[in-house]
Amino acid sequence: MKREPEGWTLVAGGAGFIGSHVCRALLEAGERVLCLDNLQTARVPNLAALEKFADFRFVWGDISHPLPQEVMRETRSIRRIYNLACAASPELYQADPEHTMLTNVVGTDRLLRLAEQSGARFLLASTSEVYGDPAVHPQREDYRGNVSCTGPRACYDEGKRAAETLAFDFARCGRADVRVARIFNTYGPHMRIDDGRVVSNFIGQILSGAPLTIYGDGSQTRSFCYVADTVDALMRLMGAEMPDLLAINIGNQHELTIAELVETLCDIADGPVPIVHHALPTDDPQRRRPDITKARELLGWEPATALSAGLRKTYDWFAAEHRAPATAAVAAGDPGPRARVARISATG
Ligand code: UDP
Repeated sequence: MKREPEGWTLVAGGAGFIGSHVCRALLEAGERVLCLDNLQTARVPNLAALEKFADFRFVWGDISHPLPQEVMRETRSIRRIYNLACAASPELYQADPEHTMLTNVVGTDRLLRLAEQSGARFLLASTSEVYGDPAVHPQREDYRGNVSCTGPRACYDEGKRAAETLAFDFARCGRADVRVARIFNTYGPHMRIDDGRVVSNFIGQILSGAPLTIYGDGSQTRSFCYVADTVDALMRLMGAEMPDLLAINIGNQHELTIAELVETLCDIADGPVPIVHHALPTDDPQRRRPDITKARELLGWEPATALSAGLRKTYDWFAAEHRAPATAAVAAGDPGPRARVARISATG
């Protein structure tokens, strides 16, 4: 029997790290996915793998600019919008801070207006960075944070805070049905090896025999969530009826220091690795750990993957990628995220 054409789920940032996992999970759940991405920090093989699905369509576009016609002409059939579009590694979001801010503010506004016109439910991928360098542990959603509005991370932190404000204002005015997820450090397959974040940096360094670059003395903490758990939470949040206008923390409560992360990775790599210390970046949060009580209560969710198991899967995936000539060939045509940031800025 021929299937009736259903609506689209729009995934902005669908070729990126978390976005590509969201697209795949949606496709596997039978949804039709319209992926909008400027490929700024995307990993090209992520997209190549998704293009094998018949219900997947890719549109190139930058949400800080007017949305492409290929998206606007589908307005009436867009049912859900995930906004995962933004560089998320500190190194990359700081490479063009104006673009980062505009992606979060102007880009989120454009997608919210699309949600208003289409009647689509809208999910914003916000971040634990809205808490800045938190003075309260663990971080609950009602903690208002400790963010510098002038520092080098502000383009992302304040951009996401403003994006949350926009989303909740649209909801309060009855213009869109919104969900806001505050995603804590997520790791897993499909990250770029040159993304700049700590897990991909360390694994890339181990695989290439380079010393591990610990920023500062390694006493700062993070709580790392495996990507499959994060995606599960995002999809539950999109489907959930919410009692109120709430942002929801999504993350793993297992907090560890960066020095402890090194030890865990040494166990996986089966041996000691050389270490070099670099300066701690400005405004680097000293501690970060989510309180996920709300996600437990409202979504029935908590992370299922232990850190050691998730890191093992991630390490094995990177190791296979390191050896894979096919992926290397696709990646060879890829100018890399820094070149793309420069190109997008130049044409902005
Ligand atoms: N970090 C590190 N070495 C690296 C990359 C990052 O020690 O090669 C540290 C960084 O200073 C921070 C933590 O690891 O304290 C997590 O950094 P990441 O860039 O992954 O994300 P953040 O949580 O800071 O957004």
